[in-house]
Amino acid sequence: MPITPSLFPELILRIELTIAAHADEVTELDQAIGDGDHVFNLQHGLQALAAEAPAIAAQPWPDAWRKIGMLLMSKVGGASGALYATLFIALAKSAPAEPAVSDFAAAFGLAVEAVKQRGKAEAGEKTLLDVLIPVAAALKLHADAAAPLPELLAQIPPLAEASAEATRDMLATKGRASFLGERSRGHIDAGAKTAALMIAAVCQTLSQNLGAQP
Ligand code: ADP
Ligand code: MG
Repeated sequence: MPITPSLFPELILRIELTIAAHADEVTELDQAIGDGDHVFNLQHGLQALAAEAPAIAAQPWPDAWRKIGMLLMSKVGGASGALYATLFIALAKSAPAEPAVSDFAAAFGLAVEAVKQRGKAEAGEKTLLDVLIPVAAALKLHADAAAPLPELLAQIPPLAEASAEATRDMLATKGRASFLGERSRGHIDAGAKTAALMIAAVCQTLSQNLGAQP
């Protein structure tokens, strides 16, 4: 893959910046149908990752993903911490030492399956999976078609954003929002929103770094 773990510190910084820029908006969503701590949980995890970023950047991708998963597991509370920890630990297990884009697409698909199992959730339940599932599908489609990476990186953020937006009218059947029943409709799921924001930050950072290469 033309993307190495040396980019990790920049990726984390860009994710932190986008979450900070949208913190109030996401907290409002989370206060409407959750307990309002989602941004805090994420920021706590991101700070832990930023502190370890140089060590993570020095390892091959699978080791880097394992370390990210373990850190999230130990540092982040809430459903989202356990789910992202599961995602990264599964990624580490499923990817070869030097993954090609197609390997990453396959491993990401398996990792999203692991998150589904962990959360006992499927598509359409108004969670972060409603962003991860379509993004995994798009990745696989493009990898199978051997589409150019810049094209893929440009297409994922609007898809993730639209997928988060689509949670607005869903009925929450998992997590705290499910306690509200029908009253959970009408608000975007906070976890879906931050998943879309983080995925967009990753794609934009990767695009810019690919562009910088000769
Ligand atoms: P908590 O719900 O424990 O307070 P967070 O506030 O950090 O944890 O995260 C809430 C987000 O986690 C929700 O917005 C939703 O996207 C996601 N989520 C909650 N429960 C599940 C689940 N069972 N499966 C998948 N995602 C879930
Ligand atoms: Mg919460």
